[in-house]
Amino acid sequence: MAELPLLEVRDLRVEFPAGGGWIEVVRGLSFSIERGEAVGLVGESGSGKSASALALLRLLEPAGRQRGEIRLDGKDLQGMTERELQEVRGGRIGLVFQEPMTALNPAISIGEQVAETVRAHRRIGRREARFEAIALLERVALPNPSRRYDDYPHQLSGGQRQRVLIAAALAGGPALLIADEPTTALDVTLQAQVLDLLRRLRDEMGLAVLLITHDLAVVAQLCQRVLVLYAGRLVEEGPIDAVFSRPAHPYTEALLRSVPRLGQPAARGQMPSIPGSVPDPSSLPAGCAFAPRCGYVMPICREEVPQLEAPGPGIESRLAACHLRRVLG
Ligand code: SF4
Repeated sequence: MAELPLLEVRDLRVEFPAGGGWIEVVRGLSFSIERGEAVGLVGESGSGKSASALALLRLLEPAGRQRGEIRLDGKDLQGMTERELQEVRGGRIGLVFQEPMTALNPAISIGEQVAETVRAHRRIGRREARFEAIALLERVALPNPSRRYDDYPHQLSGGQRQRVLIAAALAGGPALLIADEPTTALDVTLQAQVLDLLRRLRDEMGLAVLLITHDLAVVAQLCQRVLVLYAGRLVEEGPIDAVFSRPAHPYTEALLRSVPRLGQPAARGQMPSIPGSVPDPSSLPAGCAFAPRCGYVMPICREEVPQLEAPGPGIESRLAACHLRRVLG
């Protein structure tokens, strides 16, 4: 029998209250992640990627509501009690957020913060938790972890703080790490170091990673597969090399054009952006939501919502939601 995916998401929908009704910001998202696989979820701000990440752990309620199936190791998170969910959050699923300074408590030493997370998931004493925390800080390559244990967050650099957050996310022994824009607040050198660390953890611990970012160049450095989200829907999915060399959706093509060539720094002021903006979820255009910004738009695009399908015969590893039905480039 084939092994179940680690995470399986089917028809996830997320809504928020607005104007006396509910507005759908994630509109039928389906994907899976295998054990040890790194997957990038990419889109501009407002595409629904962070709402999707929070919904995976049911962290949106009661501000928002969600439907669909989210299975971790085959177990449906939608049917879990709050107590069961608390064991999953920080346990089987570790979370790393964008801003390390605000995610850490400024009044508690970094070592104690990691040790507390260890104790939240395992019944061990303070002394043992301290050893465990130092081992985790060592694992994320924080220099001199035993000496730095008693340091406070403000005594660390941004990159070091992000390492501490990753150490805390590993404390529950997760199988999946959800990292939401983990490098956005860092400069290019620190960004490369944090990505290198995530890659090493993926390879050494068999950790699966869901990397959420607006930056395709970041995805290319870590992930095997990419999911491209636009206006709350998946518009392209496929292996990273194939999607990067020949995107099948005009939005992916535009995203690729909007980042510097991989491995080459952008010259200041020379980073083209995609004209227009992500549509307001309360007033989506008819047909394809990308139509107002698309250089390939055809009459059918303004009438029919394109379904996620293989973009042509013999291209089964790829999916794209576009009436063009071909790869570009
Ligand atoms: Fe462009 Fe039409 Fe494809 Fe939408 S369906 S991305 S408008 S070509």
